[in-house]
Amino acid sequence: MTAPVQIPTQQIRLPETESAGISLFVRREDLLHPVISGNKYRKLKYNLLRAKEEGHTTLLTFGGAFSNHIAVTARAGSEYGYRTIGVIRGEELESRPKNPTLVAALRDGMQLKFVSRQAYRQKADAAFVEALKAELGPFYLLPEGGTNRLAVRGCEEILAESDRQFTHICCCVGTGGTLAGLINASVERQRLIGFQVLKGDYLTKDIRSFVRKDNWYLEDGYHFGGYAKINQSLVTFINNFRRDTGILVDPVYTGKMFYGIAHMARRGLFEPGTRILAIHSGGLQGIAGMNQFLSQKKLPLINL
Ligand SMILES: *Cc1c(COP(=O)(O)O)cnc(C)c1O
Repeated sequence: MTAPVQIPTQQIRLPETESAGISLFVRREDLLHPVISGNKYRKLKYNLLRAKEEGHTTLLTFGGAFSNHIAVTARAGSEYGYRTIGVIRGEELESRPKNPTLVAALRDGMQLKFVSRQAYRQKADAAFVEALKAELGPFYLLPEGGTNRLAVRGCEEILAESDRQFTHICCCVGTGGTLAGLINASVERQRLIGFQVLKGDYLTKDIRSFVRKDNWYLEDGYHFGGYAKINQSLVTFINNFRRDTGILVDPVYTGKMFYGIAHMARRGLFEPGTRILAIHSGGLQGIAGMNQFLSQKKLPLINL
C-alpha cells in the first residue's frame, strides 16, 4: 500500500468545548481513501505486506453485515490484487444481501460465506479455521475487526512527533487495536480516552497485551446501548455536528465519540486549557446502511 499523503488536522469549535475553554482538533483519517479509510487502512498496511511475503493470494476475514472492515478488505483486495473471502455473521442474509455494505463488498469481488450466529462464535477456533481452509483453499487470515500485532503497528503511525502538544487523544474503540497503537505512539504525560462502541468490560486485557503504558482508560458511557445501536439524540447530534463543523461522522463509531467529548466537556470533565486531538477514524460507508434501517423505522435520517 502506498504511503498516505499528509493527513490534515482541523480545529473545530463546538459550543460545549468553547464554553469549557478547551480546544478540540480532529485528525482527518477519514480522508485517507474513499473506501479504505481511517484506521482500517492503518490496520491492513503491514498485514498486506506480510501476506505478500508469505506468498498468499487470498485474504479471509470475518464480520457482521455493517462491518467497515469487510467493506475495506473487499476494496483492498480489488485494488491490490487479492482474492477476498468474507465470513459473514447471519445465515438469514444469504438469500439476497440488500445491505449496502455487503452489496459493495460483492461488487468489489469479495466472496461471501454466510454462517449462523452460533458457528460465527467459533471464528477464532483453530478447528473452524482449518475447516475453512479445507473448504476454500489457503488464505491469509485477518481477524474480525482486523486487529493483531501488525495492525497495532500500523495504527502507531497515526501519531506524529508534533502531536505531543496535545494533552488528550481520543479515539473510538471496537476491538481496541487503534487505541493500542495510539497508546504506543503517545508520551506518558498524554492521556488517552477510548470511547467504547460496545457494551461491557471485555477489552482491557486485550489492549494490555499490546501496550506497556498506563496513560489510558476506556470510557463506556457513550455506546448508546451497544454496537450499531442509535437513538434520535445521536442522529440529531450528528446532523448538527455536520452543520457546525462541515465534518461528516458515522453513527456506529465517530458520532458516538464526538457526542461523548461534547458531553464530557459540558459536564466539566476537562480542565480549561485542555488540548484534545480526536481521531476521525472514517467508517462513513456505514451511514447508507444505517439510513436504510432508520427509514424502515420512519425515523429521521443522517444527512449525507
Ligand atoms: C473499526 C473501526 C473502529 C474501531 O477500531 P478498533 O481498532 O477495532 O478499536 C473505529 N472507528 C471506525 C470508523 C472503525 O471502522
